[in-house]
Amino acid sequence: MPITRLLIANRGEIALRIHRAAHEMGIETVAVHSTADADAMHVRLADQAICIGPPAATDSYLNIAAIISAAEISGADAIHPGYGFLSENAKFAEIVEAHGITWIGPKPEHIRTMGDKVEAKRTAGALGLPLVPGSDGAISDPKLAAKIAEEIGYPVIIKAASGGGGRGMKVCPSPDQLETLMKQAGSEAKAAFGDDTVYLEKYLGNPRHIEFQVFGDGNGNAIHLGERDCSLQRRHQKVMEEAPSPVLSSEDRERMGGVVAKAMAEMGYRGAGTIEFLWEDGEFYFIEMNTRLQVEHPVTEAITGVDLVREQIRIADGKPLSVTQEELEFKGHAIECRINAEDPWTFAPSPGKVKAYHAAGGMHVRVDSGLYAGYSIPPYYDSMIAKLIVYGRTREGCIMRLKRALKEMVIEGVKTTIPLHEALLEQPDILNGDYSIKWLEEWLDKREG
Ligand code: ADP
Repeated sequence: MPITRLLIANRGEIALRIHRAAHEMGIETVAVHSTADADAMHVRLADQAICIGPPAATDSYLNIAAIISAAEISGADAIHPGYGFLSENAKFAEIVEAHGITWIGPKPEHIRTMGDKVEAKRTAGALGLPLVPGSDGAISDPKLAAKIAEEIGYPVIIKAASGGGGRGMKVCPSPDQLETLMKQAGSEAKAAFGDDTVYLEKYLGNPRHIEFQVFGDGNGNAIHLGERDCSLQRRHQKVMEEAPSPVLSSEDRERMGGVVAKAMAEMGYRGAGTIEFLWEDGEFYFIEMNTRLQVEHPVTEAITGVDLVREQIRIADGKPLSVTQEELEFKGHAIECRINAEDPWTFAPSPGKVKAYHAAGGMHVRVDSGLYAGYSIPPYYDSMIAKLIVYGRTREGCIMRLKRALKEMVIEGVKTTIPLHEALLEQPDILNGDYSIKWLEEWLDKREG
């Protein structure tokens, strides 16, 4: 049965993004929202809107019973979870499917496997993806840990199997601290994720974060849509992303893309996924797989011309992939700036009323945002309020256009990170594409000092 009415279990720019793809496919949309989001743009544009609870996400956007009820009441035949919230919750995916509602996402068992980092690493290794050297799965015995750490060499990083969002990691510089840090990591992981399982990995000194976009049809066919370079991070949160990566050759892309696509085909993966690697001295090291749409997916859309949300909906509907690997072409360059309602230098959140709003425009400029003049940014959720995505035939051209577009953006009434992006685009290292995952924090430290 084709999807006719889609419930979007999310908020903000991504809810809007999904609404747009659905409407372009002739699919009606149902928005769900907390009481704090009654005036949000995703609620205004949807064909129906249902309030699912109070502001706290645990009571609304994470409230499975309320969301399923909303789907039943509205007669939705499919649910798209967006990113964050319930998007990587295998249990939710199972409940959706058990209600006879189409889940726009990967098979629940794949969400579950990839959500456990130890399992994910084991699976990736078995599928032939290159791994960061480390313990063979979970580790609890300090003696064995010391032996492995010695073999791979210090520093090592202790990671929580259930960690995520940049949390649950500890860098250990030397043998004398290993046992203490492992204990700490374990108890912190227990408190944060309810699971004290940890594992060891070599800590790479100066890597880049390069991830591949993949799509599978669930029946053994899979493609890759190239990579995104997301090395500009602060506290493991991405700030600016670009595609293609300034450091990969088309041979590198074809080779690694081929490896990930083959792995996904073998797995029988369904829908959109992202395989994240650290990259150092020409080598890729798998760190994790995200079984959902990513915030930074528009840069891939810009250089491939493929609408990734449309593709997700088509696949959930049982249709084949709309393009073959051979048909896919990577053209030009795209950069995304995440614009947050934050002080650009202290990163203190700055929610509140938007007094004036004007989105940049012009050729190859895309703004994904739920902002409008008079809108009040609620303090309860993620501070990202807009994404500016710019395309150019070359990286240089893209950067020139991005500078121009940033100047055009008007967001008054709250502080935003636009000045940070403008300053970044003046840095020779950024202009040269010469930056690692350490670059942004080191630059911010220097600026302060
Ligand atoms: P999360 O699921 O919390 O995002 P990841 O495994 O994706 O965790 O790691 C998040 C970030 O932590 C990476 O983008 C990188 O900046 C850093 N990191 C993770 N593993 C290593 C490692 N072995 N060496 C150096 N940095 C690492």
